[in-house]
Amino acid sequence: MINYNLHLHSRYSDGNSEPEEYVHKAIELGFAYLGFTEHSPLPFDNPFSLKQENVDRYINTIDNLKEKYKNEIKLYRGLEMDFIPGISTDFGYWKNNCKTDYLIGSVHLVKPPLTDELWFTDGPNCETYDQGLNDYFGGDIKKAVKAYYDQMNEMIETQMFDIVGHVDKIKMHNKDRYFKEEELWYQKLVDESLDLIKQKDLIVEVNTRGIYKKRFPGLFPDGMTLQKVKNLNIPILISSDSHQPNELNLGFEEASSKLLEVGFTEVMFFDNGSWNSRAIK
Ligand SMILES: [Zn+2]
Ligand SMILES: [Zn+2]
Repeated sequence: MINYNLHLHSRYSDGNSEPEEYVHKAIELGFAYLGFTEHSPLPFDNPFSLKQENVDRYINTIDNLKEKYKNEIKLYRGLEMDFIPGISTDFGYWKNNCKTDYLIGSVHLVKPPLTDELWFTDGPNCETYDQGLNDYFGGDIKKAVKAYYDQMNEMIETQMFDIVGHVDKIKMHNKDRYFKEEELWYQKLVDESLDLIKQKDLIVEVNTRGIYKKRFPGLFPDGMTLQKVKNLNIPILISSDSHQPNELNLGFEEASSKLLEVGFTEVMFFDNGSWNSRAIK
């Protein structure tokens, strides 16, 4: 059993509960570790990221919980960093200011050329994805998906972080409508990003949120991309990207059996300030 989750959002970003409620649930589930990873502060108004004015409170809240529950569970303070070229602040700045244990790097908002608008590729609405694809890329799916992976590559090359969040989530709203995962142009983009991930010794998160939110019938990543992660021997981590306490371990069993089927035997965990691997059970 995977008895930890290192990717979750509380009320400090777009989750629905207080941090302590996640801690209670994690203890009930028999977790050994729990990591808070609020969406990093961004320099524009938005409904999902940690507000700059709440950073100190976030630090204190997690510090207090770490101390209060130290005999029951190990707690971490992380961030899920949003990378938007020319807009997001350097990851190192927030790592220092939030005194984080580790960082996840993710792309949710793609910066299209020739506009100041951003293409929101995540979230529950297919319509937002479709509209952005049409408005910012003239409906050219190859151009749009390339912009997503180019942004991911720039993040990998220029930022310091530990885990790549939901690496192929760009396919979530595609639902096989605009392209198929096995198309050569798409696989070339995946290869390029995975090669960089390998070079930088990053961990790839295997994210179960699509499954239990019923937004996508598989993991991020799955299919050919997951197999390539395995072939390249890139270390992985299972997480549920929980936005409420009862999502803390959703999809973990399904993910574990899928990973064993693909040939993975180990997943990463974090303890005493460093990453180590353990058997998937
Ligand atoms: Zn995310
Ligand atoms: Zn997340």
